[in-house]
Amino acid sequence: LQQAQDKAVRYELYTEDLDKLQLRKRTLINDLPNAVTHDELWIDYQPKAALNTGRIEHFEALIRWHHPTLGLIRPDEFIELAERSGNISLLSQWMLIHVCQQLHIWNQAGQRLSVAINLSASDIINSQLPQQLEQLLKTYDLAPRQLAIEVTETTAMQDMSQAVNILKEISALGIVLAIDDFGTGYSSLAQLKRLPFNELKIDKSFILRLNTDEDDRLIVRSTIELGHRLGLKVIAEGVENYETAALLFKMGCDYLQGYWIAKPMPSHQVLDWLKHFKK
Ligand code: C2E
Ligand code: CA
Ligand code: CA
Ligand code: CA
Repeated sequence: LQQAQDKAVRYELYTEDLDKLQLRKRTLINDLPNAVTHDELWIDYQPKAALNTGRIEHFEALIRWHHPTLGLIRPDEFIELAERSGNISLLSQWMLIHVCQQLHIWNQAGQRLSVAINLSASDIINSQLPQQLEQLLKTYDLAPRQLAIEVTETTAMQDMSQAVNILKEISALGIVLAIDDFGTGYSSLAQLKRLPFNELKIDKSFILRLNTDEDDRLIVRSTIELGHRLGLKVIAEGVENYETAALLFKMGCDYLQGYWIAKPMPSHQVLDWLKHFKK
């Protein structure tokens, strides 16, 4: 009897948790459009350091959402919801405009930086995108190389041929293209051949245990070599300590990104951070 009761209690807890989770998801999906218009989004910027020179000119833009009642929501949670509910282009548009504005402000302050934006599969099959990017470069007086786009393959990227054409157009504008989360199954060797990428980002799941895991070391070393043979710059994300950085340096990796260099920071801290980093 005790066992049956325990089971009943656990079951109740379980369904209650599921209900809560469902409710949270529904709330987030409903409130996403408001996030844009009610000023609840902001962007953190995380630097990438060039290993050969130690210079920092490249950043990645990472979206943040402060929900009025639920507090800070991680992009890992709401990006997927935005993709599934058809709201992702709203967020991507918001990101593109705000990043370009920010780059313009930094240019005027005498700092020519470059920023990478994460776009989703559905953004990449939007045939308006290349034209829109060209217009943004013009409006904010940016060099094409100041803008980079990071993409992963998802099952949603069904129309591969359309994506290829759009990515080629974007590449022809001089905008940098990076394949993100490389090695995770979302990003594959087939894509490297087909698409006009400039950079390959090794997913942090291979980097976090680089010091201790021999398999990860083998994978990362081979991926760097593969990337270089294909003429790509290689970036490692998730570099959390000196030992990892030293290993990646020995392996010939081009750029490092991770908490060891800096955590993602709001735009207003970037120029100060750069000043102190250079000292
Ligand atoms: P991602 O593109 O793989 O970005 C890297 C994630 O790793 C970021 O998480 C970053 O904060 C985190 N990270 C950086 N350095 C370290 C480190 O040293 N150690 C560890 N453990 N983590 C590190 P974040 O900001 O939570 O973003 C999560 C994911 O959400 C991103 O993964 C990206 O796929 C997606 N995302 C973020 N912003 C956007 C956006 O504007 N649009 C789209 N479509 N996706 C976005
Ligand atoms: Ca990324
Ligand atoms: Ca990743
Ligand atoms: Ca990712």
